[in-house]
Amino acid sequence: MAEPDGLDAASLFLEGMGITYGDFILLPGYIDFQVSDVDLESRLTRNIRLKHPVVSSPMDTVTESRMAINMALLGGIGIIHYNNTIPEQAEHVRKVKRFENGFISDPVVLGPNNTIADVYRIRALHGFSGIPITEDGTMKGRLVGIVTRRDIDFEQDRSKRLGDFMTREVITAPVGVTLHQANEILRRSKKGKLPIVDKDERLVSLVSRNDLLKNEDFPNATKDSNKQLRVGAAIGTKPQDRDRLEALVETGVDVVVIDSSQGWSAFQIEMIRFIKQRHPDLDVIGGNVVCRNQAEALIEAGADALRIGMGPGSICITQETMAAGRAQAGAVYHVAKFARHHKRNVPVIADGGIRGIGDIAKAVAVGSGAVMMGSLLAGTTEAPGDYFYEGGVRLKRYRGMASLEAMAKGGDKRYFSEDDVIKVPQGVSGAVVDRGSVVQFIPYLMHGLRHSLQDLGYKSLEALHEALYSGRLRFEKRSASAQREGGVHGLHSYEDPNMGFIRRAGDR
Ligand code: NAD
Ligand code: IMP
Repeated sequence: MAEPDGLDAASLFLEGMGITYGDFILLPGYIDFQVSDVDLESRLTRNIRLKHPVVSSPMDTVTESRMAINMALLGGIGIIHYNNTIPEQAEHVRKVKRFENGFISDPVVLGPNNTIADVYRIRALHGFSGIPITEDGTMKGRLVGIVTRRDIDFEQDRSKRLGDFMTREVITAPVGVTLHQANEILRRSKKGKLPIVDKDERLVSLVSRNDLLKNEDFPNATKDSNKQLRVGAAIGTKPQDRDRLEALVETGVDVVVIDSSQGWSAFQIEMIRFIKQRHPDLDVIGGNVVCRNQAEALIEAGADALRIGMGPGSICITQETMAAGRAQAGAVYHVAKFARHHKRNVPVIADGGIRGIGDIAKAVAVGSGAVMMGSLLAGTTEAPGDYFYEGGVRLKRYRGMASLEAMAKGGDKRYFSEDDVIKVPQGVSGAVVDRGSVVQFIPYLMHGLRHSLQDLGYKSLEALHEALYSGRLRFEKRSASAQREGGVHGLHSYEDPNMGFIRRAGDR
């Protein structure tokens, strides 16, 4: 048999040289199975498994309840950010835990004093126009009507009150109705929306005919033993984060992420110990780490998984500003290997710097059990924030949690110690392109990852990791010109399938 080409991982990631995703390529393996045979199941933590190894980042332009619900439905998981009050964060977690497929728990509502223009604004933003009307325009008020496209179609004056146009006789269903029953009511009544109300006629959720027609099925959903979706939440290491922790545990959070750029601190070690002592069954993801000694300290304090990455994020200026960090692929390789062979056998998450399917494949190939993504998901419909146009391109805002903007939103409560008056941001604010809904985007990424594993010749992530550590998985370094050759070149312009717009030569 011919000698294998290339390098094993230990030779590629020799200490002393920072190597990241663009710097290497994986050599192909033997294929004797179909793409559909590839199993992407992996360990997120020591106790939680994912059918798809994808995690949405705890950032305020990425993960709130809507993103977390969809990530869990699609086989990954979302981590709710904590640049908010304790009740706000707990409410996001509660919405995920209470989610029932088909019931919209946070519908857009208006009041009788809102105008027709408000409906058009909502239609432009969200694409729907069947809106429940409550007494005070919030979910807390009594339901008094519903406005649909037909109620306002012929009205030219958009400043008129909805109270004069809404349909007042609304067909509703009581809390507790099953999706099947709700479906039947919609079918018989031929209505588009069915508000679900409590005994005081307050709106609790909404069932939409369009959603039912889609009849979504999510066989890969990440669920707990009660069949509720799983969700994570971020916390810090300040004394007040202990109150946050208790509120999150109360809502049934499945896993907490200790959110720090440099996790090897007395504060974090103490926090992990505190959590494991008070809530031994709650999984804790420690981090961020990039070195073995950092990892060892957090694993020994009780972490059930580690988050790896200091500086690779798309919005990150940590390496430039702090002169600390590590090239991401090497960091993942070294820490993942250490954590897997530690007697507690802890999985790791590759966090930051993921630009597409190829980087996901490389991140798992060098040992991670999952990837955490910010920029790639911030442009999806499910991320917080509204779309806007710049130069004809549809965009959403995306910002680092250590950007001046995010710190201002959080009241500086997290980033600086009380007496810190000089602000040194470690992140920037910007915009990312529209990527449509995660309901299409995540399956696209996962199908691409299956193709990649097929090219490498492995049917599962576990088989890939065994090959990584045995030396059977082979790598090659890429020179600068090899990297250019591997990308699109020699064209005047082309349509980038990952960005959805035309690029000109020299754009990359
Ligand atoms: P952090 O909360 O870990 O640290 C902020 C500051 O508070 C640090 O100086 C820390 O030492 C101090 N601190 C923490 N707990 C303390 C305690 N109990 N008592 C006294 N001081 C304490 O947050 P961070 O590392 O600045 O990160 C902020 C956000 O930015 C996070 O969301 C993080 O994920 C993100 N970020 C990530 C990266 C990355 O490369 N992954 C880089 C920069 C920022
Ligand atoms: P991205 O997927 O490349 O956009 O990276 C997302 C990751 O960047 C997050 O999961 C965090 O680890 C990290 N991050 C978030 N905010 C900041 C910041 O302000 N500065 C540096 N890194 C950040």
